Parts: sequence; C-alpha cells; structure tokens
Amino acid sequence: MDKIKKFFECLIPETVCNLRCGYCYVIQRSQNTMKVPELDYSPEIIGKALTQERLGGVCYFSICGAGETFVPDYLIEIVHELLKNGHYVNITTNGTLTKKMRRLETIPQEWRSRLQIAFSFHYLELIRLNLMETFFSNIEFVKSLGCSYLVQLNLYDEYVPVLDEIKSICMEKVGAPPQIVATRKETSLTSKIELMTSHTVEEYKSFAQSFKSPLFDFTMKNFNVRRREFCYAGSWTYTLNLKTGILKRCYASCIHQNIFENIEKPIMDMAVGKCCGSLFCLNSSHFMSLGVIPSIKTPSYVSLRNRKDGQWYTPQMEEFLSSKLIESNAEYSTLKKIVANIISAGDKVAYHSYRKLVTLKRKKK
Ligand code: SF4
Repeated sequence: MDKIKKFFECLIPETVCNLRCGYCYVIQRSQNTMKVPELDYSPEIIGKALTQERLGGVCYFSICGAGETFVPDYLIEIVHELLKNGHYVNITTNGTLTKKMRRLETIPQEWRSRLQIAFSFHYLELIRLNLMETFFSNIEFVKSLGCSYLVQLNLYDEYVPVLDEIKSICMEKVGAPPQIVATRKETSLTSKIELMTSHTVEEYKSFAQSFKSPLFDFTMKNFNVRRREFCYAGSWTYTLNLKTGILKRCYASCIHQNIFENIEKPIMDMAVGKCCGSLFCLNSSHFMSLGVIPSIKTPSYVSLRNRKDGQWYTPQMEEFLSSKLIESNAEYSTLKKIVANIISAGDKVAYHSYRKLVTLKRKKK
C-alpha cells in the first residue's frame, strides 16, 4: 500500500476561464487576462525533476490553475509524467471543458486509480451558460474512466436561496450533497482575512449545516486560527509553480528553490517550524489534514472529501489519502528544530517586509 511521502500544492499561473463567478479570486484581483503562459520547462523535464528517487517516495500533487485548470493543453502531459512516476494527482476544475477533459482518456488504464478530479460546482454560472448537463456528464465520464472525484460548492450569499435545489440535483446526479468550501475575500495574507459574505459567521455556518460537510466544518474550525505548533511545511509539503519550477516552503515564505533548473540538486528540506508567516493555515483542508503539523490530530484528507453514499473514491485513492505524512517521514531532532525556527523567524520578517513594500507600491499607483 502506498503512503504519502510529500505533498505539493501546484499552481499553473494561467488566468483563462470560461465562467465568471462572482466569488472568483482571479476576478477579485482583476487578473482575468485570458493568457495561457508557456511553460519554462517541458513536461518531460518536469517529470524528470519529480521522480520518486528525488522526492524520497510516492507523493501527492494537487494541481489548480489561477483560471480553469484544463485550459492549457500541457496540463495532461504534466499529469501523465506525474502518474508515470507512480505519484497521485488531483486536478481541480469547473468541469465544463468537455473536449479538453476527454484527453484524460489518453491516460493508461492502470494509472487512473491514482487520479482524482475535484469538480467545483459553480451552480449559477452553469445555469446562465446552460452547462448543467455538460458538468454532470463530465463527472460520469471521469467515473467511467476509473478515477476518483469529488464535488464541492463555494458557499456564497447568492447561493443561499437555491441551496435546496443544489443539494437535490447533486443527490440525484452524484448520490450525495456536495462538500462545502468556505469562500474568503481576496485580501493580503498578512492582514485580517474575512469570509465573503454579508452575513455573520454564525449565519454563514448555518447555511452549510444541512450539507453535513466535514470539509466545511474542518475549514471553519481552522479559519483565522494562528498556528504556533511546529509545522513541517518546507520539508514534507510545499507550494510549486509548474510554469517556473519555483518551489516555496509555503505561501508566506521568501525561501525558495527552482527545482526544474538543476534536477540533480536535492529538494530543500527546511521546515517552517513555529514561525508560520500566515494569519492562519490558509489551506488547512490540504496541509493539516495530511498531517503537516503532527502534534495536531486531524481527520484524514479523504474523510474530509469522500461521500461514501456516492462512492466518489476508488479504494486505492481512499487508502492513499487516508495516510499521514508522519508515516513516511521522521520528525526533526531538537537541534534541527531550533535551527529551523531561527531560519524561519528571519524568513517571516523578510516576507512581511516584502508584503509591506508591495502594498505601498500598489497604493502609490
Ligand atoms: S501552518 Fe502555516 S506554514 Fe504550515 S502549512 Fe499551514 S500555512 Fe503553511
């Protein structure tokens, strides 16, 4: 049975999307430039840079575009390389680009049980563009390939009057209600982060109640809770830009390495420790559920997402995403922890100074 060695939160920095959701982070940042950037390194080099030998074992890669992830043609080639290396992969999508999604058929049968597709259910846009049937037939297609999938809904004020409709269509089409994602306002990572709602937090939570979504409950539990425990981001988990090869320890860190440039070089191993630069664990449902902070007991990654009634996961994917990073990684010695904390304290100061500069520059414009 495969156990997770490392986790990579991967970004493809393309901002093209066929939908216009009111809560979209890209639209909030006015970055919807309709550009698909070329990769700085070919999918073959990316594959060679991310072998099990270099990474120490079987890893999990979650890929998301800044726009719709399936837009760039090279997505499938990258996924192909990762699966060829024996890794597990998630692709987050709006589920509407049928032609692009059909290319999943080129993935060999025996690799497909290591692939998961996270369908974001942008209900009102699907109605506006008459894409509801397309969305659900693409889920059927992914299921027929033998991949795992999940359906998730961004909780948003405009959905409140139609939540019952949303639930019943999902029950009918995918056998269970969607998992709920808390939607936040796009703000700086270093100032207060708020939910995108005109309601109180309690009201917001009550809208999600009938969906019984462990994903939502876990995210809300960790929302705006500053982490002070020893975190192994930078050693067990990373963020990776698939265009540039820039690997960062986590979102709020200046320390980075281009891991596609020299594929002989070892991957950096310097945990953030007790100096997390973020206001809270921004993607706790990924990082924390995989066990990046081993001193905190968390539900497994898969238990936050799977709907057993809908049979959304293959047994292989379910087993893999039930494993925790501590099962294949050793914790640091006391001395190594002290060194990591000292380095990270400096990194945190550098990151916050850098963000202040960026904000000042933006204000001047
Ligand atoms: S606690 Fe901080 S450093 Fe650790 S994964 Fe979460 S955001 Fe990243």
